[in-house]
Amino acid sequence: MDTFDLVVIGAGPGGYVCAIRAAQLGLKTALVERDASLGGTCLNVGCIPSKALLESSELFHVMRHKSEAHGIMPASVKLDLPRMLARKEGIVKDLTDGVAVLMKKNKVTVLHGRGVLKGGGKVAVLSDSGEREIAGKSVCLAMGSVPVQLPFLPFDGNRVVSSTEALCFDTVPAHLVVIGAGAIGLEMGSVWNRLGAKVTVVELLPRVAPFADAQMSTFLERALKAQGMVFRLGAKVTSAKVEADGVTVVIQNGKGEEERLACDKVLVAVGRKPCTDTAGLAEAGVALDGGRVTVDDHFQTNLPGVFAIGDLIRGPMLAHKAQDEGVAFAELIAGKPGHVNYDAIPNVVYTHPELACVGLTEEECKAKGLPVKVGKFYFKGNGRAKSLGEDEGLVKVVAHAETDRLLGVHILGARASDMIAEAVLALEMHASAEDLARTCHAHPTLSEILKEAALNVDKRAIHG
Ligand SMILES: Cc1cc2nc3c(=O)[nH]c(=O)nc-3n(C[C@H](O)[C@H](O)[C@H](O)COP(=O)(O)OP(=O)(O)OC[C@H]3O[C@@H](n4cnc5c(N)ncnc54)[C@H](O)[C@@H]3O)c2cc1C
Repeated sequence: MDTFDLVVIGAGPGGYVCAIRAAQLGLKTALVERDASLGGTCLNVGCIPSKALLESSELFHVMRHKSEAHGIMPASVKLDLPRMLARKEGIVKDLTDGVAVLMKKNKVTVLHGRGVLKGGGKVAVLSDSGEREIAGKSVCLAMGSVPVQLPFLPFDGNRVVSSTEALCFDTVPAHLVVIGAGAIGLEMGSVWNRLGAKVTVVELLPRVAPFADAQMSTFLERALKAQGMVFRLGAKVTSAKVEADGVTVVIQNGKGEEERLACDKVLVAVGRKPCTDTAGLAEAGVALDGGRVTVDDHFQTNLPGVFAIGDLIRGPMLAHKAQDEGVAFAELIAGKPGHVNYDAIPNVVYTHPELACVGLTEEECKAKGLPVKVGKFYFKGNGRAKSLGEDEGLVKVVAHAETDRLLGVHILGARASDMIAEAVLALEMHASAEDLARTCHAHPTLSEILKEAALNVDKRAIHG
């Protein structure tokens, strides 16, 4: 039986990054993955293919609706959906092949098959070619997550789908109902709306992107409505009838009124749940808390030698959080001080405009009794935003009223996903609003909006 210092089960961004870092630190490492392709949800059916389609569909939208403002008059703009989907698949293949190359480069042993915990550091790898047992001094569970189904509306892969199928519809649905206005629902809804579908988003809570700053949610909802998306907020899906030619979704709004939505397809995007049923966790006695694998600050489960990271454990289900945990865990078992700062994990919704945030919202600060001062600055006051034709949105900086320490930064606008990096670093370095405000920002850039918002914490923005 082959023995490793570390056996990682699951080759998503948590698992494969953990394997690389462990190998860099000299640990003999094996990575077990049940799928043929490495990269997990993120590279195969998550972050990357969704962003590829968001980019293509945004370009389609720009050419149809925005190019004339730049003096560019396209003769005709036609959608070639198979080609758009092929481009997305090509990007996925390049990146997943790239992960395989990284494994070779770092001398990580990749074993394809389903990994099952066998106790005493042993892991069975089950595949079509049989069963093989390996052993690890440490075993890291990184099996990620899967979409949540609604009990009365199970996925059928055709009419009732998860994000996985919504990444590859072969025709544009006439009417797509999206259940759930979180990141995945809003992003996939945006893709198909831009490509010509009528999109109705139903959300139980009273606002879109419910985790975000309330003002940002309101602005985002307004922007998406202007793009043609329809929202039923504070509404509950009570039942649905799936027929050969479509689905009727019955919803009930906050006043108890019922509405029937007839559509071609329903995307159920009500969340994801940890993938705890593939690796023999129950049989091995791995403790769960609310469906997630319980770990301590060092990613240790209740079983000696068994650890867990990524979507399986507490915290936001995000690829960069899984990666950072993978690195921290590998460093810890190599005797180094690995650490993840959960207070500085950015969260992005890649709609247009994009929504990006890090740290606490104003409401969260108030709920914690933290005295805050807030600075805002709008994209319309920024020269680069004007030149880009992207002057919709704002930056909101939340700082401690007494110490000026940054507590949160919230950005709604074009390229917010890139702009947030500066704010994450600022939070990581325990910077103050004054630090951001005094930092020289290149002109003309969108990043100047962040500086102006930081200046506005003390009401001294220059351009607004
Ligand atoms: C449509 C969509 C868009 C997303 N967009 C973003 C985004 O823009 N940014 C972001 O940060 N996050 C995004 N996410 C979330 C992100 O994909 C996840 O947070 C991330 O992939 C979690 O990483 P992980 O390593 O924990 O697990 P996963 O990526 O889920 O990987 C787990 C791996 O384990 C394998 N596995 C499971 N059981 C076994 C077993 N028993 N044996 C062997 N292998 C097994 C699975 O096949 C899988 O490859 C998105 C998700 C979706 C669905």
